[in-house]
Amino acid sequence: MVISAVYVRPQKLEEAVELMSTDTWRILAGGTDIYPSIGENELKTSFMDLTNVSSLKGITEDQFFWRIGALATWADLLKTKLPPAFDALKQAAREIGSIQIQNRATIVGNICNASPAADGVPPLMILDAGIELTSINGLREVALKDFITGNREIARDKNEIVSCIKVPKIDLGSRSVFKKLGVRKYLVISITMVALKLSIGESGTIKRATLAVGACSAVAKRLLELEYLLEGKTTAEAGDLINDTYLADLTPITDVRATANYRKVATKILIQRSISSFENRNQDG
Ligand SMILES: Cc1cc2nc3c(=O)[nH]c(=O)nc-3n(C[C@H](O)[C@H](O)[C@H](O)COP(=O)(O)OP(=O)(O)OC[C@H]3O[C@@H](n4cnc5c(N)ncnc54)[C@H](O)[C@@H]3O)c2cc1C
Repeated sequence: MVISAVYVRPQKLEEAVELMSTDTWRILAGGTDIYPSIGENELKTSFMDLTNVSSLKGITEDQFFWRIGALATWADLLKTKLPPAFDALKQAAREIGSIQIQNRATIVGNICNASPAADGVPPLMILDAGIELTSINGLREVALKDFITGNREIARDKNEIVSCIKVPKIDLGSRSVFKKLGVRKYLVISITMVALKLSIGESGTIKRATLAVGACSAVAKRLLELEYLLEGKTTAEAGDLINDTYLADLTPITDVRATANYRKVATKILIQRSISSFENRNQDG
């Protein structure tokens, strides 16, 4: 293999940001998307390895937000005590690759790779997550729904580093669930996936529903009309009301893993299973 690339490993975010303004760098975090994508090809890009920047590690909170640092791994997420609304993201974490991948791979890397099948995106969409970008010009924030603009496309300027994912402390007492379908249980790319957050009142009816589907469009999608339909229903009655009209925004493709039609049918079933998983849960949030 010919190696003509430059490799840098800054110690501080300021140093990384300064370097970003001087050249074109490919940011390296856990490398679990980057290394397989390079394979045996010639290394041409210059890499900036962020793994020594300690200020990007960990998951923290203040009065208004939870912050998932750019170097927080799926394993870090699983170790952190978080409100119930993060349950869907934690369930996704448990199904990302294997324990070795979860120990190495970052949540921010999953978002920046912007695969239509990235398991982290729907659970973060139902949390109304925002993406914080740092550059020599300062900080900028973009809603996750606007950050991923297409298949492997993100709204990041070439000199910006994603410094963290911000989750507003709104409605985090509500429970959430994540369901993924693959050809087997582990080490598998999703055929479809659903993340659902429900706030259920004392009367047993749904007060607020937030639902996102991944792997059935270039970018994961919130199904807003379906969310609206679920409100005011009990979980027992809600599942039967779902029909294809509410999935019309999805544009699944046929590929080696499944046909478009199979993806749509499976998505409807995953949504119904997600809703019924809230039955018998004693909650109000
Ligand atoms: C065996 C295996 C199994 C896998 N299973 C799954 C799975 O089940 N579900 C799933 O969704 N994914 C899976 N993946 C993909 C991968 O592990 C995840 O997407 C992971 O979260 C990526 O994180 P990373 O830190 O390794 O990213 P990296 O590979 O380091 O980077 C990924 C991309 O993000 C960019 N990037 C990283 N950090 C930043 C930053 N701070 N600012 C700007 N850009 C940044 C990089 O430049 C690159 O383009 C699997 C991968 C492997 C190898």
